Amino acid sequence: MNDVLVGRAMKKSFGQTVALGGVDIAIQAGEALAIMGPSGSGKSTLLHCLAGIMKPDAGEVHLQGQRIDAMGERKRSELRRTRFGFVFQFGQLLPELPAEENVALPLMLGGVPRTQAVRQAREWFGPLGLQSMETRRPGELSGGQAQRVAIARALVSKPAVVFADEPTGALDQRTGHDTMRLLVEATKHNGASLIVVTHDPNVAGWCDRTVEVRDGQLVSGVAA
Ligand code: ADP
Repeated sequence: MNDVLVGRAMKKSFGQTVALGGVDIAIQAGEALAIMGPSGSGKSTLLHCLAGIMKPDAGEVHLQGQRIDAMGERKRSELRRTRFGFVFQFGQLLPELPAEENVALPLMLGGVPRTQAVRQAREWFGPLGLQSMETRRPGELSGGQAQRVAIARALVSKPAVVFADEPTGALDQRTGHDTMRLLVEATKHNGASLIVVTHDPNVAGWCDRTVEVRDGQLVSGVAA
C-alpha cells in the first residue's frame, strides 16, 4: 500500500468529553481526502492528531512509516514545518509582513537565507494567480487572495501532506470554489496529499474521497 499517513486506534478526550473514540484512518500518496461531520463531532481533533499538533491519548500516527505521535514537541514542531503544510479558515498570515515573506517564512525558519527564501516564494505567485501581489501586506489583499498566499505558504517547503481546516469558510461561494480548485490542483501538482476538514459538501466534492466523523467515530464510504 502507498499510504503516506496512517492513524491507528486514535483516542482523545477532553475531561469527560470523548472527542475521538478510536479512529483508524489512512491517506494515500497524492490523495485528496475530505473529513466531514457535524460541529463538535471530532473533525478538528482528528486533524490535529494526524498533523502532530496534538498527541492522542492512545493509538499511533505514522508518516511514511515513521511513528510521529510519540515524538517530543520539538521534533513534532520540526516535522510540521518540513513535512506538513497548513491552510486554516482565516489564512493566519502575519499582517506586518509582505505576502512574499509570509510565503518564505517556513523556509526562513528552516534556515534558508532570506533572499533565497523570498526568491523561491515568488515562484508561487504566478501559478496561483497572484501576479504583482508579492509586496502587498495581508490587509491589502482580498480574502481569496489571502487564502492563495496561505496555499503558497503551505506548499513552499514541498510537504508530504497539506492539512486544511475549513479553508473556504470565510469566503463567498464563488471565491471558495476557485480557492478549493487551486488548493486541490496545486497540492496534486506538487505530489502532496491533502486532508480537508469541512462541513461543506461542495468543498468535499473537490476531493477524491470523503469520510464522515460522528461522535468521535469514523463513518466511511460516504459519497463525495
Ligand atoms: P469539530 O471539529 O468536528 O467541530 P472538535 O474536534 O473541535 O469537533 O471537538 C470535538 C469535541 O471535543 C467537542 O465536544 C468539543 O467541545 C471538544 N473539544 C475539542 N477541543 C477541546 C478542548 N481544547 N478542550 C475541551 N474540549 C474540547
